Amino acid sequence: MGKVTGFKEVERKTEPYRDPLVRLADYNELYTEHNEKHLRSQGSRCMDCGVPFCQSDTGCPVDNLIPEWNDLVYKGRWEDAIKRLHTTNNFPEFTGRVCPAPCEGACVLGITDPAVTIKNIENAIIDRAFTEGWVKALPPTQRTGKKVAIVGSGPAGLAAAMQLNRAGHQVTVYERADRIGGLLMYGIPNMKLGKDVVDRRVNLLREEGVDFVTNTNVGSTGENAISVQELQKNNDAVLLATGATKPRDLPAPNRELKGIHFAMEFLSANTKSLLDSNLQDGNYISAKDKHVIVVGGGDTGTDCIGTSIRHGCKSLVNFELMPTPPDERAPNNPWPQWPKIMRVDYGHAEARAKYGKDPRTYSILTKEFIGDENGQVKGIKTVNIEWVNQNGQMNFKEIPGSEKVWEADLILLAMGFLGPEHQVIEGLGVELDPRSNYKAEYDQFSTSVPGIFAAGDCRRGQSLVVWGINEGRGAAREIDRFLMGSTALP
Ligand SMILES: Cc1cc2nc3c(=O)[nH]c(=O)nc-3n(C[C@H](O)[C@H](O)[C@H](O)COP(=O)(O)OP(=O)(O)OC[C@H]3O[C@@H](n4cnc5c(N)ncnc54)[C@H](O)[C@@H]3O)c2cc1C
Ligand code: SF4
Repeated sequence: MGKVTGFKEVERKTEPYRDPLVRLADYNELYTEHNEKHLRSQGSRCMDCGVPFCQSDTGCPVDNLIPEWNDLVYKGRWEDAIKRLHTTNNFPEFTGRVCPAPCEGACVLGITDPAVTIKNIENAIIDRAFTEGWVKALPPTQRTGKKVAIVGSGPAGLAAAMQLNRAGHQVTVYERADRIGGLLMYGIPNMKLGKDVVDRRVNLLREEGVDFVTNTNVGSTGENAISVQELQKNNDAVLLATGATKPRDLPAPNRELKGIHFAMEFLSANTKSLLDSNLQDGNYISAKDKHVIVVGGGDTGTDCIGTSIRHGCKSLVNFELMPTPPDERAPNNPWPQWPKIMRVDYGHAEARAKYGKDPRTYSILTKEFIGDENGQVKGIKTVNIEWVNQNGQMNFKEIPGSEKVWEADLILLAMGFLGPEHQVIEGLGVELDPRSNYKAEYDQFSTSVPGIFAAGDCRRGQSLVVWGINEGRGAAREIDRFLMGSTALP
């Protein structure tokens, strides 16, 4: 702890995002230039607690050594800081940009004062490291002769690939999309995570010796398909890191109308078109001049909001079934738990700036979709609901007379995901858990079929990038142990 009185002298201040009305004109990242002086003074607020809750328990899922690098940043020792950061986190440039930062919810300073700006500092360390040329490919010095196939190239697959390759195994990552990165590439939009940032890391992995095979749908029967049995035959282990890609539907009357889409159809096509042609090929669902309703909150809903406004939608509303969260932690949500409070994410701030009001409406239930004579959606009928505690369980009841019809030409369903698609494991005998995820104990990651492992959202259900990295690292460690009898991987 470099500055004993830092937390008493310095107020928490995060680095600002670009002005909402300016950034709405492009798809560039939201972030502003890092300011070294500012970051060092924010680093000085860290109290170097005896038990740093930020880096374990309910804090950082990859156990980042947060107080250590906060102090190194305060002292201006950026190169040492990235060495500490990379010991626990393969991809701080992803988490530094998109992580919701459970570490900050668990920061001890947060009991009495605003938490340390941990996420900002993490992002600044890795950005500085790339700028200075400190991040280099680290190919293994020895090869083991063992081969591992990884299905899926999201954060779980990529973290596992990096770890296994560094342990000397020959790793091939199979991805059905045309670009590597999973939801880092085709889920989270450019504004939050630039695709050059994803490509930069993938290129380093390539340089280290990881093979990537794109446009290959493992387990399907179409063109460019390969069976998982073939991967099994040609490799010593297989890791399933296929994500939770089955979207939750909204089976209200008239669901079949045109103009109602799953959020991922909208977001993925937008990113692909943007990368392929700067949106010139027209291969995306446009929100231009449309009344847009996004059903469902969360990161996916926010990304639909940010993207729709950039397209130039006429109006925007976001429905949320749950009640409005409180401004402060509720008594049953104490520190160091993740604070379930009202937040204004980038998309909400942009909607406020553009339309003068927050797009979110809480405690609202969709009753039916309404269409015109051409089968095109033209609205949604809703009813307000009230949440009631019935014997400790929260249930909702409809409020009579609160029905309302909302105008809409484009409806985006962002209500979460229901686990992985199962065609990849067909004929393999991999057991599922009760939520239809691949069944594999956390920390062991082996499925019911020897030599087949599972990690990330396909094992734990829809989650976060940082958990994908955690699980990819864990699965790599267990695969290494399976292949070699013991392991030195963390
Ligand atoms: C729109 C959106 C925004 C999000 N925003 C955030 C955020 O801001 N912060 C955050 O922490 N988390 C966010 N998340 C969640 C986060 O992206 C995921 O938890 C994380 O990416 C899961 O990583 P994964 O590696 O398990 O799977 P994924 O990233 O889903 O990657 C799985 C990959 O497997 C591929 N695949 C699937 N089946 C096959 C097959 N049969 N053959 C070949 N390839 C296959 C898929 O194409 C995909 O590329 C967001 C999620 C969404 C949908
Ligand atoms: S990865 Fe997420 S939880 Fe961990 S230190 Fe970074 S922002 Fe915090």
